[in-house]
Amino acid sequence: MSIAVLLLAAGSGSRFGGEIPKQYVEVAGEAILLHTLRMLEQEPRLAYVQPVIASGDRRFASLVAQKHFSFALLPPVIGGEERSISMLRGLAALPADVDMVAVHDAARPNPSARLLKDVLDQALLHGAAIPGIAVHDTMKRVDADGKVLETPLRASLRAVQTPQVARRAWFEQAMQREEKRLHLHTDDASVLEAAGFPVYVSLGDVNNRKITTQDDLLWLQGLLEERT
Ligand code: C5P
Repeated sequence: MSIAVLLLAAGSGSRFGGEIPKQYVEVAGEAILLHTLRMLEQEPRLAYVQPVIASGDRRFASLVAQKHFSFALLPPVIGGEERSISMLRGLAALPADVDMVAVHDAARPNPSARLLKDVLDQALLHGAAIPGIAVHDTMKRVDADGKVLETPLRASLRAVQTPQVARRAWFEQAMQREEKRLHLHTDDASVLEAAGFPVYVSLGDVNNRKITTQDDLLWLQGLLEERT
């Protein structure tokens, strides 16, 4: 049994802006993507990391050149326009002995050892697991005009993160079953849910934050400075 991380780094990062794709922006002397790889090294059960990068990306190769990792870093594959296409291409490239897959955002540079352990333990137990945290704001479901349709019970809600972990066969079957609706899914677990596979939520971490805006970058700078 082997576990692989699909490291998704093929997004355009349009909400972030700037010249350099967000995963290559340097914080505390290292690119965000390198921080992510170093944090993943804390989990000894991760055998492989399969990067998925954008076409024409030359930064990845120079970033990892001459560096050694605790897992086997596989040659990157080229992603697509939509996250689900990047995911499909990464899945197809995984070695045959991989039977558990952890899909992780390259732009989420701070998954702790505790979080990684918990989500893997839960996925091995139940078949699929994702980290999640309680929400503090009350959430509303609204229609296109902004009219409130529903107020889901706050205690039952979780804001979910990555890595999203599941049996490889489940991801493959779910993506095939949901082939026509993949563009509607905003995370990987919802593809599993729609295909009828059970997904469990493990304990996430507020510091496992995705870098989406310049504000997130300032937050990360503060966090890493505090640490050193
Ligand atoms: O755009 P967003 O921040 O939600 O992307 C989350 C992660 O998925 C990022 O690391 C991004 O590079 C990746 N992604 C991808 N292919 C896409 C879109 C996003 O690999 N087409």
